Amino acid sequence: MKYPQWYKNILLTWKPKSGKSTMLDSLLASVKEKTWIITKQVLDEGGTRMWFNIVDNKWKKFLLSSTTIRSDKKFADKYWIHSVGIKEIMNNFAYEKWDLIYLDEVAPMQIAADWFKEFATSLLDSKNPLLWTIKLDDNKYEFIQQVKTRKDTLVLDILGQEFNEIFLANLVKKIEKSQKYLTEKERFQKLSENERKMDSQSSIRTLHTGEIINCDCDFYENYGICSHSISLRQII
Ligand SMILES: [Zn+2]
Repeated sequence: MKYPQWYKNILLTWKPKSGKSTMLDSLLASVKEKTWIITKQVLDEGGTRMWFNIVDNKWKKFLLSSTTIRSDKKFADKYWIHSVGIKEIMNNFAYEKWDLIYLDEVAPMQIAADWFKEFATSLLDSKNPLLWTIKLDDNKYEFIQQVKTRKDTLVLDILGQEFNEIFLANLVKKIEKSQKYLTEKERFQKLSENERKMDSQSSIRTLHTGEIINCDCDFYENYGICSHSISLRQII
């Protein structure tokens, strides 16, 4: 087949201190329909890491780990891991079908817990586009390796190279566009069991559905992902 893969999960790998958060914040600022979970570190006055919080899109804040508040699980000989908050977020994490889900970041501290892996897997398996950040050195973890080899997951190395930043910006625009298409389902017409025609205004697209969804547009041909295939995945 001409198009071997179709992606809906985008795994962004980055180097610490590469300015990733600032870049992503500004990229995602324009996306109205989104749901997120982010991890924030809290420093003491001397600049030492004290604890990590998990914050969701309703700005609910939960303790993930602490150097001072004890629990029954320790990570890296330094942080006590707390599961109450993460479980609360997992249990209440609701997203709309057009939402872009943003997970920043999934690090060894989180994946040390099985229930977090289950939660992350449910997001990967959802129909929604998912942006997920990991650090480059997290590669040695089996769970991360498994995620990287998923057929629906595109791995992008964001090291501040111009190409990637522009591509990422384009990708976010495609995701935004797909959200618009979701509210205009009349654009999609069923041609046969596995074939849809899509009126994208600028032209007519043909998409094939099955184990993967492919599209005949240029962006898909180059990157294995496009606004048309993302929205069709959420419609069917
Ligand atoms: Zn397309």
